Amino acid sequence: MNFAKIIKRFRIEKAHGFRLSDFDPADTCGLDIGKAAAKDMIADGLRHLTAMQEKLYAQNQWALLIILQGMDASGKDGVIKHVMSGLNPQGCEVHAFKHPSAEDLEHDFLWRAARRLPARGRIGIFNRSYYEDVLVVRVRRELLGRQNLPAQLVTKAIWSERFNSIRAFERHLALNGTLVLKFHLRISKEEQRQRLLARLDEPSKRWKFSMDDVDDRKLWGRYMEAYEDAIRNTATAEAPWYIVPADHKWFAWLTVAAAIGGAMERLKLEFPLVRGKALEELERVRRALGAAK
Ligand code: AMP
Ligand code: MG
Repeated sequence: MNFAKIIKRFRIEKAHGFRLSDFDPADTCGLDIGKAAAKDMIADGLRHLTAMQEKLYAQNQWALLIILQGMDASGKDGVIKHVMSGLNPQGCEVHAFKHPSAEDLEHDFLWRAARRLPARGRIGIFNRSYYEDVLVVRVRRELLGRQNLPAQLVTKAIWSERFNSIRAFERHLALNGTLVLKFHLRISKEEQRQRLLARLDEPSKRWKFSMDDVDDRKLWGRYMEAYEDAIRNTATAEAPWYIVPADHKWFAWLTVAAAIGGAMERLKLEFPLVRGKALEELERVRRALGAAK
């Protein structure tokens, strides 16, 4: 199976005509392998990812920023658990962006994310991100009122202005060595219903349930419009979106793992070569250590 082709189908780089409804949340690209076989494939993909992460870390030049966005129960936590599990924790950080703190609200909407960007050599994973500020904040307008913005700056143009800010921010990151990959985990409303029910039914999952989830669910259509507009306006070659069909968890894990693997491959990472004077120095130390016993 050609995963590069599959990934290409879900990668959005230029999205003027982009429509979310063209993407089926239950899509598996005709693959019918199920969870167990998918886990084997993911394990292979993970070994490859881990090997590339070592080089990323050793080179200390590129950083990788992975952004996960999706409705409640779309599987963001699961992707982090399953796809990132093989990575070396030393070179990897996960940040979850929840309701902004009082301090966050004293700053522009990119501030709290900018403070948590991955350093060179690192992989940063954002579980939600500054995209919430054009999603939940757009759908629930009362949240915008809490952002302490000067009244004359809050106009109808605010969302397109925020898209401009995001595009400029991500371009800046790309030009400075951070590879930005954005994933929208797309589930159907029915699949979300099933997963929320499971959260209520299973004691070990109950803690995950929030009344917000039910309120957000009522605004499903408005969220989809907000997602579509955000993706349409912020999908670029330097910071592409991937629309990940997420009704089947295993397919979402495979797709995310393959997309990250493919993007890292394009960086052509290599271990730094030690040569010339530095290598001579190492050889001297080697001889001295060898003779020291
Ligand atoms: P969860 O990810 O389910 O733990 O929930 C986190 C909640 O924080 C979600 O309901 C998000 O919509 C909300 N959230 C995240 N970022 C923001 C933001 N910038 N403004 C308002 N709510 C946010
Ligand atoms: Mg939640």
